[in-house]
Amino acid sequence: MARVHNFNAGPAALPLSVLEEAQRDLLELPHEGKSTGMSLLEHSHREAPYEAIHHEAIALTKRLYGLGDEHTVLFMQGGARAQFALVPMNFLKPGTSADYLVTGTWAEGAAEEAALVGSRRIAGNTKLPDGRFVRVPKQSELDLDPKALYVHLTSNNTLFGTAWGNYPDTGSVPLVIDATSDVMTRSVPWDRVACLYAGAQKNIGPSGVTLVIVRKDFLEAGRTDIPSIFRYKSFADAQSLYNTPPTFSIYLLRGTLRWIEQQGGVAWLEAESGRKSGAVYAVCDGDPDFFRAPVEKESRSRTNVVFRLPTPELEKRFLSEATKAGLVGLKGHRSTGGIRASIYAAVSMDSVEVLVDFMAAFRKTA
Ligand SMILES: *Cc1c(COP(=O)(O)O)cnc(C)c1O
Repeated sequence: MARVHNFNAGPAALPLSVLEEAQRDLLELPHEGKSTGMSLLEHSHREAPYEAIHHEAIALTKRLYGLGDEHTVLFMQGGARAQFALVPMNFLKPGTSADYLVTGTWAEGAAEEAALVGSRRIAGNTKLPDGRFVRVPKQSELDLDPKALYVHLTSNNTLFGTAWGNYPDTGSVPLVIDATSDVMTRSVPWDRVACLYAGAQKNIGPSGVTLVIVRKDFLEAGRTDIPSIFRYKSFADAQSLYNTPPTFSIYLLRGTLRWIEQQGGVAWLEAESGRKSGAVYAVCDGDPDFFRAPVEKESRSRTNVVFRLPTPELEKRFLSEATKAGLVGLKGHRSTGGIRASIYAAVSMDSVEVLVDFMAAFRKTA
């Protein structure tokens, strides 16, 4: 088998050891040292073999992020996009308002959904007249409402390759973070976080499950006049076994989190993300007229490295030769064009080195 170097934006690379274990467990899931005689897909979500996986995934999340009792870990469905709606549906009661920071397409989407549900302001927006985003706002550019219930931000802008290096100072107003494209790759100031959510399919698993971490006081104050399937409280009270969870997705999430812990946890991944993205940015900075990285340095993403080449023809050739060299998924988002290397948790430094060598070799022939 020849596995490629996978730079897909999501769904994305998973650790090989996790996939190999899944291959085995797809036929016969072991439990307490014995085979259960059936596939992990065939198990009830109300029986011990699955429950062990489920609760371990919750415990791993808490351990990796160093969460205490103030936060609850939930597994939900509908992707990160469902959270764009569920956050305001649960929290934004009449008479309250939230601030949204618009730093990219996903952040804009979240703000649009919130406006359908309740009252929200745009407290910062770095969209350029041509529709691109090349940086996050400076603290001095923010127009924050000190009475806001929360400030929503997207920690990493997956499409344009920008990120909040430091989270903004929002005073006593807590943050709600869409961390889909950098979850577990950086530490989080939990004392300031009311809610963090992330579709698993970029850094911590396959599609089908969304990790949601909610502070308990927000959970308790959540609206109860919305359908129960949309309430965080329903999921919290049932430890995310309110209805049938996506068992296979949670199984793979658990495997990926175990792998992250074995490698050295969030601190290791944070350093590794800096090293991996730094190697690609170094090539761009060494030849900035050829590898044109549009994002301002302080706002550079460590999980989605975006650059352009001097002409669309060169970009096309770059992508086709990269594919031949076993480097896949490097095409920029359909709305932005160019090149994007998504370097999530399971993309190895070895793969990045192959990419960096390929870039240098391509430069010589261009
Ligand atoms: C991919 C992505 C989304 C959308 O996630 P879905 O799970 O497809 O709904 C939302 N926000 C960010 C930051 C993303 O990277």
